[in-house]
Amino acid sequence: MGSARTYSPRKKNIRDSADRCYYCGHLFKRSGEFCRTFDHVIPVAKGGRSTKDNLVVACRRCNNLKSDLTLYETVGRINDRLRFATDKKEIEELKVLRQCFLNAAKLRKSNKKGGRK
Ligand SMILES: [Zn+2]
Repeated sequence: MGSARTYSPRKKNIRDSADRCYYCGHLFKRSGEFCRTFDHVIPVAKGGRSTKDNLVVACRRCNNLKSDLTLYETVGRINDRLRFATDKKEIEELKVLRQCFLNAAKLRKSNKKGGRK
C-alpha cells in the first residue's frame, strides 16, 4: 500500500509493461542476461496456458532460473542455490531474487481472489 512503484501488468497489455522484467524489475537490454523473454507464470508443463493472464515478460536471467517451475518452486530453487553459494555478490543477488519471486507469488495470489474480501 502506498507504494508508488508498481509494475503489475494486471489489466495492462503485456506490451505496455514490457520495458521491465515482471519478476526482478530490471530494464530490458538488447542482449545478455537482461534481454527480454516471455515466461508462463504457471508453466505449460503444469497446466498453464498462453493467455494474457499467464504470460509475462521476464529477463533471461529470471526465465532461466524459473524455467518450468511455479513461483514458489522457484523460491525453493533459489533457497537451494543459497545453500551452496559462497560468493558474497551471488548470495546478495539470490536474496534479492528470492524476494522478487515471493512478491510475484503473493501478487498473483491476491489478484486471483480479487484482492479484497
Ligand atoms: Zn528478471
